[in-house]
Amino acid sequence: MSRVPRHLFVPDNVRENAYVDVPLPIGEGQTISAPSMVAIMCDVLDVRDGDSVLEVGTGWGYHAAIMSVLAGHGMVYTVERLPSLAMRAREIYRDLGFINIDVVVGDGSQGLPEHAPYDRISVAAAAPAIPQPLVDELKDGGRMVIPVGQYYQDLYLVEKADGKVHTSTKGGVAFVPLVGKYGFK
Ligand code: SAH
Repeated sequence: MSRVPRHLFVPDNVRENAYVDVPLPIGEGQTISAPSMVAIMCDVLDVRDGDSVLEVGTGWGYHAAIMSVLAGHGMVYTVERLPSLAMRAREIYRDLGFINIDVVVGDGSQGLPEHAPYDRISVAAAAPAIPQPLVDELKDGGRMVIPVGQYYQDLYLVEKADGKVHTSTKGGVAFVPLVGKYGFK
């Protein structure tokens, strides 16, 4: 986390709070998670060097940047439905020289078949239920973290092993809604 300058991943008007452990508004009614939440999600997800990672909900790109450091020689594909946010994230990655992150505009609730399957999937917006396309795009031995619920959510860990899917909960969280085909309408 010390290698990712959070103040460059938030708008000017909230920059002075970039190193306070709180969520921050990034425009378009969206927020980025508190650094401790990003850390918990990365910890639960257990991203490893060489992993192919899918993130749903780029925002300004802070969380994906952290995962790209953890993925090392691997690749992070991050999907954002709002083009203005995706463009901003792309600019930041270009300026800072993050080369193993690919930002895609689209509805990530439907997954990202082009680069599937993934070792790890991290969903940064709250879903009504675990989207089946994301489960399908997880490799055997893979893991996904995803907040599920409407107003208050639980963080779910989804693990696929020997073709079976096992889910467990990791505590209460609060995220903006996942909007899309397998999200909220
Ligand atoms: N990962 C960010 C947090 C982004 S907030 C971080 O650094 O902390 C969640 C983002 O999910 C918002 O930008 C929102 O626009 C996006 N989002 C919501 N539904 C989506 C969907 N179906 N596909 C892709 N992005 C989505």
